Amino acid sequence: MNGLEISPFIQSLPKVELHIHIEGTLTPRLRWKLSKRNNIKLPYDTYEDLVASYAVTYNHRKEVNGDNGAPTFLEAFYAGCQVLQTEEDFYELAMEYFQKAAKMNVRYVEPMFSTQDHIQRGIPAQTVLDGYLRAQHDGPGRYGIHSNWIFCFLRDHPVLEAKDAYEEALPWGSVEGGKGLFHAVGLASNEFGRPPLIFEQHFRCPKSDGLHVTMHCDVDQKDAVAHVHETIFDILNGQGTERIDHGLNAVDDPRLIAGLRARNIPLTLCPHAYHRRQKTEVLFPKITKLWKEGVKICINSDDPTYMHNVWIDGNMQKVYTYCSFTKVDMINLVRNAVEASWAEQGIKEAILDELAAVDVTEDN
Ligand SMILES: [Zn+2]
Repeated sequence: MNGLEISPFIQSLPKVELHIHIEGTLTPRLRWKLSKRNNIKLPYDTYEDLVASYAVTYNHRKEVNGDNGAPTFLEAFYAGCQVLQTEEDFYELAMEYFQKAAKMNVRYVEPMFSTQDHIQRGIPAQTVLDGYLRAQHDGPGRYGIHSNWIFCFLRDHPVLEAKDAYEEALPWGSVEGGKGLFHAVGLASNEFGRPPLIFEQHFRCPKSDGLHVTMHCDVDQKDAVAHVHETIFDILNGQGTERIDHGLNAVDDPRLIAGLRARNIPLTLCPHAYHRRQKTEVLFPKITKLWKEGVKICINSDDPTYMHNVWIDGNMQKVYTYCSFTKVDMINLVRNAVEASWAEQGIKEAILDELAAVDVTEDN
């Protein structure tokens, strides 16, 4: 279920990552290092114990699945965040991710981040934003990685808090006079009982500020189909979101598939995240169906260090193997990601040129 060996073809394919939470790239090694640097006590005696703690399948949502004794994904994710204290920590987190991305031939990323959870534990938003901004500036020169970031509202926090968080972060946005860190807003964290519509008012400002909008629709969540429906058709009269993160449950209702196609809304899928909870023979036919139905899908990694260390290459390998996609299909999946991205035109064209030159004849 966890990893597959990455084929030379998948390894060498140029890639675009549109659905990754930057805190979900915090490696055990960096977490250990920052815990020492910042005098944060971890509940593990040794580094090996810490690494071993990741070798579980977290309970996705206790509210949906019941309590099976395992920690939930979000408990693990937020426990990891505790070591992030200074601007340098956030910078290092992002730069480590860029270094890893470059090794996987990722060319362009749109990392998601939030400030609300860090503010809640006493870290000023500026510390977070300045760290990521410095990494955004250094990424292209150091690792050849260009990035535009996505500011996420945390949907399990008070709805009104989102407005304050957005206004505080806006000077770092891609707005007139802004610093250009983030060019979009999104939704993250626990969707249980928190339908996208309750955040509708908070998407008006970013849209009028000229920012892009994407929204998470978690998989097999309570009311998952209804949430995808709301996101496509209802929010801001169906003009609210430009992309949906996950949204796999669209496959359960032909009206949703038709809506995604008609409104040209791409899905940023993260196959391994679902493969932890669905059997191979159940999951991958769904991805194949969306693909064959003409929904614009692309392949991403979500929170790789909390998901058995399966990164974008591993997620693409799963689709290549279990959907029996051809090399041309895989290239077209990356093309979808380029088209679904909000990268500058020159960056898009450079990646498309690279994709056009990929050799699809050799047996690898
Ligand atoms: Zn996500």
